[in-house]
Amino acid sequence: MVASTSEVYGDPLVHPQHEGYLGNVNPVGTRGVYDEAKRYAEAITMAYHRHHGVDTRIVRIFNTYGPHMRPDDGRMIPNFIHQALSGSPLTIYGDGSQTRSVQYVDDLIEGVLRLMRSAETRPVNIGNPVEYTVREVAEAILRLTGSESPLAHEPLPADDPKQRRPDITRAREILGWEPKVGAEEGLKTTIDWFAGGAAKTAAGG
Ligand code: UDP
Repeated sequence: MVASTSEVYGDPLVHPQHEGYLGNVNPVGTRGVYDEAKRYAEAITMAYHRHHGVDTRIVRIFNTYGPHMRPDDGRMIPNFIHQALSGSPLTIYGDGSQTRSVQYVDDLIEGVLRLMRSAETRPVNIGNPVEYTVREVAEAILRLTGSESPLAHEPLPADDPKQRRPDITRAREILGWEPKVGAEEGLKTTIDWFAGGAAKTAAGG
């Protein structure tokens, strides 16, 4: 099984993204190495499957969050939770109107296990199709933490995808899978972990 990514779709021109969409990746952009490496991983996986008969799986993982992420991970949800809990400004890149669809880690693991146990060798999207703007995620985290941190705008990184949402028809039909944990519940669990467990981990506990 190769752990691929929604990044294979690049800055998508088709929305939501189904597995048949071939993507819109800038090979020479700042995200090009990651995106093309994952696309190549898929290509070589299929070559081994077709040419050598290897039994393969490809999971395209969309944005995922949950406990045990590093507070300095750099991604949106750990950044915002860490900033909200420490009273520092939440750093919104660009105007915050870009969208992501965020899935709780337990849902991802269930999807991965079901794919592994299936006979599906085509790529399968595993992600939560509920889509939020980055600003909405920041506001939800402020509300759920009760933080009074302000929002601070920083420049949008180059080639930051403007929108992302999985079409999970294939996972629904073939794996009987769909996400079970909503953002409110998943974020609360993650915030609780950051408020307690993250501090203990940082202290070596
Ligand atoms: N983002 C943000 N502030 C942060 C971290 C991320 O506004 O402190 C934005 C980022 O520009 C992107 C979105 O949140 O539009 C998701 O970023 P992340 O790095 O989590 O995932 P990816 O861009 O790989 O989907």
